[in-house]
Amino acid sequence: MITMHSWFANPQNLLVIAGPCSVESEDQIMSTARALVQIPEVSLLRGGIWKPRTRPDAFEGRGEEGLAWLRQAKHETGLPTATEVATPAHVELALKYDVDVLWLGARTVVNPFSVQQLADALKGIDIPVFIKNPVSPDLNLWLGAFERFQKAGLTKLAAIHRGFSYYKESPYRNFPMWEIPIELTQRLNVPLITDVSHICGNRDLLQATAQKALDLATDGFMIESHIHPDEALTDAKQQITPDALKELLSSLTFRAKKSGDVERDLAGLRGEIDDIDAELLQLLARRMEVSAQIGAYKKRNNVTVVQMDRWKKILSDHQATGEDLGLSPDLIAEVFEAIHQASIRRQSEIMDEN
Ligand code: PEP
Ligand code: MN
Repeated sequence: MITMHSWFANPQNLLVIAGPCSVESEDQIMSTARALVQIPEVSLLRGGIWKPRTRPDAFEGRGEEGLAWLRQAKHETGLPTATEVATPAHVELALKYDVDVLWLGARTVVNPFSVQQLADALKGIDIPVFIKNPVSPDLNLWLGAFERFQKAGLTKLAAIHRGFSYYKESPYRNFPMWEIPIELTQRLNVPLITDVSHICGNRDLLQATAQKALDLATDGFMIESHIHPDEALTDAKQQITPDALKELLSSLTFRAKKSGDVERDLAGLRGEIDDIDAELLQLLARRMEVSAQIGAYKKRNNVTVVQMDRWKKILSDHQATGEDLGLSPDLIAEVFEAIHQASIRRQSEIMDEN
C-alpha cells in the first residue's frame, strides 16, 4: 500500500533527487544544476557538503562555502536543494543556507546517539527529513531512527534505500536486500526513495537496478549526477552526466502504480519464501549428514540399510503431525518418500565403499 503524502513533491509522479555526490566548486554545482533543471523529472538538487570518508586525508566536502554555492544554484534554477547532515552544527548551517530537504546518511543512522542529537536539533522545525538505511541490514535500527524523528514532532519523513554492507561477493557496492525496505514501508507509512547510485557503485548497473526499484513501486530515486563524472572528487565511478541521467530516466518502463503495489507486496513475501527455503536446505543437508553417519554405523555393525517397520512408523507419525498442521497426508508421503529414498541411496553408497 502506498499513500502519497501531500508534502511530497510531485505527488503523481516520481520524486527524482539528482546532483553530485559532493559540491566541489561553484562552477561544478552551477553547471550541473543548469543541466539538471532541463530534465523535467528532476525535482530536487542534491549536493554533499560534509562527506563521511572511510580514510582521513580524503576530500571531506567544502562545508559552508559549498552551502553558499548550493543556494546560488537553487536561486538560479529554482530547484529545491537537499544535503546530508550528520551533526547539529550541520543542521544549523543547512537551515541558514535555506536547504529544503535534509537527509541522514547510512553511517549516521547506525548510531542512535547521533540520530537523537539530530532529532533534538530539529524539534519543532517541520522540514522534510529523509532517512537512509543504516549500513548494516538492521530493520529495527532504521525504524528506530524514524521513531526518534516522529517523537520530535517531524511529520515529513521519507526513507532512502541505499543498500547494505554484505559479507559475500556481489556485483553491487551495497547489496539491495529489497525485502528490508519493503518491510519498512509496510510498517511505516512513508514514501520510499531508491538511491541506485550507492546500491550499484558503478554506472553499468544503474538502469537495471532503477527498473527493478520501479517494478517494486518505489516512490522516487536518488541518482548522483555530475557535469564531469570522471573528474569527481568522490564516488566518480557511480556518477553520470545529466545527459546520461536523462537517457536513463526515459528508458524506464513505468507500470501502473497498482501493479507496482502488487509487485512490492509479492517481493516481500518472496523474500520470506527465500529465507524459509534457505532454512529447509540447511535442514535437509543436516538430515543427509546424520543419515550418512547412520549408514556408516550400520556398515560397521552389519545392519541392513532398509528397515521397513521403522520407516512405516516414521511416515505415519509425520502424517499425523502434518494433519495437525494442515498438511495433507499425500504431501507428507511425497516429500518424505523422496527424502527417504535419497537417504537409502546415500547409505547404500556407503555400504558399497570399501
Ligand atoms: C551520499 O549520498 O553521497 C552518501 C555518502 O551516501 P550514504 O550515506 O548512502 O553512503
Ligand atoms: Mn556519494
